[in-house]
Amino acid sequence: MRTPLIAGNWKMNGSAELVASFGRAFAEAELPGDLEVAIFPPFPYLEAARREFAETRIRLGAQTLNPLHSGAHTGEVSGGMLREFGVQYALVGHSERRQLYRESDEQVYDRLLAALSVDMTPVLCVGETLEERDAGHTREVVLRQVGHVMARLEPAQRARVIIAYEPVWAIGTGRTATPEQAQEVMAAIRAYQGGFDRDLAAGLRLLYGGSMNAGNAAELLAQPDIDGGLVGGASLKVDDFLAICQSA
Ligand code: PGA
Repeated sequence: MRTPLIAGNWKMNGSAELVASFGRAFAEAELPGDLEVAIFPPFPYLEAARREFAETRIRLGAQTLNPLHSGAHTGEVSGGMLREFGVQYALVGHSERRQLYRESDEQVYDRLLAALSVDMTPVLCVGETLEERDAGHTREVVLRQVGHVMARLEPAQRARVIIAYEPVWAIGTGRTATPEQAQEVMAAIRAYQGGFDRDLAAGLRLLYGGSMNAGNAAELLAQPDIDGGLVGGASLKVDDFLAICQSA
């Protein structure tokens, strides 16, 4: 019932050649019928990606966006600009943005509203650090991050959000959460959402992220509350990313 999504977050990586190679491989790829695929390249590659992915199933996403429409904000890019390049999804609250650029829950909320306002699908990223997990605070931390945003949205807005659970200790470390660890937190997120509206919770799309690769994707994606993946490192290798898509 929930459409699966495999999203590739290239972070500050990639090249025009990588864009072209994804275009070639995905033009011919056999993919599961209902699967959505998205690539989130660095902004300078969006135009080339739009062109090279035109004959493929790959949709475009943005790794961040500024909450404002336009103005004197050197270095920033707005949702309206991204929309002009056909961008359909936006990551908000990625742990690297929270940690390296000190984005607060409040800024995450503003960015998510900005994405909704230009008709993009926000992918809200949440996750605990290793210290928080070891201290037994995983659930509390994750539900606080989810709640800070979701509790303030109108039901119609809430229905448009995708949530990515990405334990910080699993991102880029090669240390994946076990399917059981991921499932436990993701079931808690869905149950939290069920407190607002049962139907909405049943339709909420949840992605797992954190060292997902061609070897572990199938087992993670088989969990009842995991509807897709947010893939970093393995989305930079076309064969690996394609294999993950095919296991969804
Ligand atoms: P990773 O990154 O797959 O390299 O762990 C995931 C992410 O940061 O979205």
